Amino acid sequence: MITFDARGPIVVGNWKQNTTRDEAVQLAERIAAEPVTGVQQAICPPAIWLTSVRDALAGSEIELGAQSVSAFRNGAFTGELSATMVAEVCSFSLVGHSERRHLMGETDTAVNEKVRAALDAGLAVVLCVGETAEQRDAGTAEAVVARQVDLALRGVERNVGHLAIAYEPVWAIGTGRAATAADARDMSSWIAGVASRLVRGPQPAVLYGGSVNAGNATDLFEGPHVTGFLVGGASLKADEFTAICRAIAPGD
Ligand code: PEP
Repeated sequence: MITFDARGPIVVGNWKQNTTRDEAVQLAERIAAEPVTGVQQAICPPAIWLTSVRDALAGSEIELGAQSVSAFRNGAFTGELSATMVAEVCSFSLVGHSERRHLMGETDTAVNEKVRAALDAGLAVVLCVGETAEQRDAGTAEAVVARQVDLALRGVERNVGHLAIAYEPVWAIGTGRAATAADARDMSSWIAGVASRLVRGPQPAVLYGGSVNAGNATDLFEGPHVTGFLVGGASLKADEFTAICRAIAPGD
């Protein structure tokens, strides 16, 4: 199991439902060919390409993650992949990505079950949380995010070194409209504070996600609690992904 270092920097690429098998392998090979020293790099290809990408990454330090796991162990759950299956190929999984919550109807209860299933199976977890534009406009962003973190971490007091929390405002994902550096910094500090009341021992890393690219990465990597990024669209281009990692590499 990997540990997400709460001091960062960490950059996780979420390829979502993109790439052919050849594209996935080539993308992984290109990212692995230019590792960025001092940055924990990770990618989450589509589940069907995980074993091909694992083979392409052999010998590299790029971590491999799934985009989701089932909350259930084994059995009659057609189309699902259990955490134990994923753990045979990957070191971590995203859980509760906004697209799963909003497009696939994943509830806070399901997110909590998935977090616990993943940790129990030996996977590290990147838990995704974030408010909608309406919730932000209504002034409830902090409360929404605190509740998501609280509900997701029910019954999880251990393994926190194996947990990162990605703050991904829904309105910033795939829109080209990133949060301001101040909003990312403030909400990351808020999340770190919420997490510190829920978990003992080493604290989870907090990432920002939402329209991160090579041009805004340096600005967004601000403040003590933004310890890295979860990157969607820009992670599909090897040069851009590597440039984001370089922008926040120590000493740069
Ligand atoms: C994401 O999918 O987690 C994400 C942040 O997407 P994008 O970078 O494209 O906004």
